Amino acid sequence: MLSKEHKFKDSNGFIALCRPGFEKALAQEFYRWSGQKGMAGVCRADDRNGFVVFSASMPMDDLAAEAAPSWQRLIFARQVLPWFVQVTDLPAGDRLTPILAAVEQFPPEAVFEGIELAFPDSEAGRPLSRFCRRFEKPLTCALQERERLAPKGNPGEMLYGVFTDWSTVWLCHAPPGLAAPSASGIPRLRMPREAPSRSVLKLAEALLVLLTDKERQRFLKPGMKAVDLGAAPGGWSWQFAQYGIEVTAIDNGRIAPRVTATGMVHPIAADGFKWRPRRSVDWLLCDMVEQPSRIAELMAAWLARGDCRHALFNLKLPMKKRLAAIDDALARLRRRMGSQGGVELRVKHLYHDREEVTVYARALRGARRGRR
Ligand code: SAM
Repeated sequence: MLSKEHKFKDSNGFIALCRPGFEKALAQEFYRWSGQKGMAGVCRADDRNGFVVFSASMPMDDLAAEAAPSWQRLIFARQVLPWFVQVTDLPAGDRLTPILAAVEQFPPEAVFEGIELAFPDSEAGRPLSRFCRRFEKPLTCALQERERLAPKGNPGEMLYGVFTDWSTVWLCHAPPGLAAPSASGIPRLRMPREAPSRSVLKLAEALLVLLTDKERQRFLKPGMKAVDLGAAPGGWSWQFAQYGIEVTAIDNGRIAPRVTATGMVHPIAADGFKWRPRRSVDWLLCDMVEQPSRIAELMAAWLARGDCRHALFNLKLPMKKRLAAIDDALARLRRRMGSQGGVELRVKHLYHDREEVTVYARALRGARRGRR
């Protein structure tokens, strides 16, 4: 849990990782955040390098933890870390010495729970993956010798080194609860052998990132009902069937036999924009490739009529004005649900998302519609 008391004293800004090609959209989100919080700063966002650096042009001492631009708050960020020092010109033969010298500049009370190294998911960043794995051990030993690491079992701030190329590292530290669980923001999910397609990983990540542990327990229960619009070949339907949820799978395309063999998935060949359920369901899933505005209107109609309580869907984004397309879609949902008690919306550009974002929407009114 993120402590409410945490302050970003001595931090110079934030470094955030994203899918290459989405740097501008992420920088736009940083500027939106800085405008809302009155935190002046500038963003460095080079096309396709997989990261954005926000440098604050004023002290961040008074920034409250809950107001920070966390990886959950920024749609396009996979990871967001407060940075303290940028170490440049690291010599290929000895990167350790200058990094340790930089850590020595931290106040003596700065003792960390551990160190994690990260890299951007870009052409330049990916070759750093192996180096980061290997370098973590000598760095940990050296930090232990200098008493910069707390004894085991003592939870505190983690120290992070974000290598943006072979000779540059950004030293960051973050309180528990602020950073994404994986340092580089890449979730480690295993593909189940029986799964019909890789899209199950996308849904698994969505449920992990967009719902809390408690919500997954409460909202995904055996005996519940779901509708999956644009279901073929059936990855999402299969995944819901694993929770014991019965799924009506709408698609003119073929649902894979191993999905129907679960006995929990019932295919119907129909147009997802026209088909409606006879009874309300717990979940609406939608992975149809369409204009975001059209998908948003469809989701809003289901939620507003009480046809479903929860919706999980993708918004396929245009190449330009991505944030504007998301804003427009969410505004449509909020407008339509305004007179219905409102809607809770959570949006994320997941690691498994390409030119799309994943949205979780929940109708806030309690009442459910019965059989028509
Ligand atoms: N989520 C699926 C899975 O996990 O296997 C993959 C869905 S695939 C990206 C998109 C699907 O949407 C295609 O099978 C396509 O036939 C379907 N689709 C597109 N427009 C549709 C429509 N109007 N009605 C029903 N299905 C539609």
